[in-house]
Amino acid sequence: MANLSNGNDDSNNNGSFLKIPKIKFTKLFINGEFVDSVSGKRFETVDPRTEEVITEIAEATKEDIDIAVKAARQAFDSGPWPRMPGAERAKIMLKWAELIEENIEEIAALDTIDGGKLYSWCKAVDVPEASNLLRYYAGAADKIHGEVFKTSRNLHLYSLMEPVGVVGHIIPWNFPTVMFFTKASPALAAGCTMLLKPAEHTPLSALFYAHLAKLAGIPDGVLNVVPGFGSAGAAIASHMDVDAVSFTGSTETGRKVMMAATMSNLKPVSLELGGKSPVLIFDDADVDKAVDLALFGILHNKGEICVAFSRVYVQEGIYDEFEKKVVEKAKTWVVGDPFDPKVQQGPQTSKAQFEKILSYIELGKKEGATLLTGGKRFGNKGYYIEPTIFSNVKEDMLISQDEIFGPVMVLSKFKSIEEGIEKANSSKYGLASGIVTKNMDIANTVSRSIRAGIVWINCFFAFDVDCPFGGYKMSGFGRDYGLEALHKYLQVKSVATPIYNSPWL
Ligand code: NDP
Repeated sequence: MANLSNGNDDSNNNGSFLKIPKIKFTKLFINGEFVDSVSGKRFETVDPRTEEVITEIAEATKEDIDIAVKAARQAFDSGPWPRMPGAERAKIMLKWAELIEENIEEIAALDTIDGGKLYSWCKAVDVPEASNLLRYYAGAADKIHGEVFKTSRNLHLYSLMEPVGVVGHIIPWNFPTVMFFTKASPALAAGCTMLLKPAEHTPLSALFYAHLAKLAGIPDGVLNVVPGFGSAGAAIASHMDVDAVSFTGSTETGRKVMMAATMSNLKPVSLELGGKSPVLIFDDADVDKAVDLALFGILHNKGEICVAFSRVYVQEGIYDEFEKKVVEKAKTWVVGDPFDPKVQQGPQTSKAQFEKILSYIELGKKEGATLLTGGKRFGNKGYYIEPTIFSNVKEDMLISQDEIFGPVMVLSKFKSIEEGIEKANSSKYGLASGIVTKNMDIANTVSRSIRAGIVWINCFFAFDVDCPFGGYKMSGFGRDYGLEALHKYLQVKSVATPIYNSPWL
């Protein structure tokens, strides 16, 4: 493993792979200003590579959420943002996208030290995706319109698509950048104002984005970034003056968010929750390619992905060859400092997540599954875990049912297409799924039979900003991405007026 630095040093960090930026923003961003929290409380954000504190961040509590909601309310009720032509909002969003690109390396480094994410991936994919999302929805901002209805009576009837109002976004720690813009971009295009609560483990890039938003010209109060713990999220979800909530995170917390919304002002909620996504690998698959796909599917982002291929089902004809090769390849997977360009897997984001994964590995052993490789901490410093594979897994074992959210593959065998489909669907979740085959008939039958929001045929993580994404079953509801996401932040108003002496209806 490489030498690590504490992230607070703007020297060249002797021995590390990159100059780590000085942390510039540590306060709440409310009404266009960086401010201390009312309570003066601060919390530590930790570098998962070193287990050392990077810096302290102002902690939003209920009082701060009240102030931020007031700012967002005022910006919505009387500020310029919702009243601006869509094309003007678009210009500001495009400027923000440019500023992000100018700061790409610094932001990528923030997500790496805060979340243990691969620097190369953040720089090549996550941070560019922030600009993509802003540009995509900027393009939509001046094309949001209702319809004129062909009526059966003497009425002129039309609909208006109006911004829903003040939105609360509660986002998780596994994709701090992509999640920020998945939520904020369509809401901004729609003309909403908002609060965004990053996860307590990964607040750094969110605060940097707030700074760039101000430079780009997002008016004060339109975007408020309020790092804090779950209680701050709960205060947003239950606030009487927040008009909608968009949440990504665990199913358990999603349920709490929905209950808080129900018990307060019945605000609409969209939930993108956990998953236990299956991939079915059929006998006709190229085994080497299937091995690569399955490993990438579970080890990418150290398995902290809601769509991870965490259940791998291999048809019996190629099972033995697949098992042998996947174990060999997993043993060569490079774990270490995520700044090192050779490294494929960094540390888990937090101590809590690290411990949760290790406890599931122990549970898998106790449940009687066979540990083929991995199963331990990697090294003795940082939250690193060895790529881990279990076989002989039964459907009712908890390692096959629960979202582990780590580098732990659960491997089993199936015989027929029907059995494969049945196993794939034997989960309370329905977020993503995969099929590996060259046979179009199998691909068509299986893709239509799996109950999941996205099906990847011979690929993994094939997202596109134009393609809606969201869950079936207990993986949630509502769609991110695509024009579909705009509808989470719009409401339809119908307007009627009588017409007299019209030559037609
Ligand atoms: P949570 O679902 O608790 O966290 C997601 C976000 O919700 C965070 O911003 C969190 O704040 C906030 N939050 C926590 N409690 C509440 C509440 N009562 N009301 C409103 N917001 C709240 O995930 P965890 O961090 O606890 O991770 C646990 C498990 O969840 C993981 O192991 C994984 O299985 C799953 N998960 C799934 C994700 C996905 O992409 N679908 C993403 C992250 C986790 P804070 O961080 O301060 O607690």
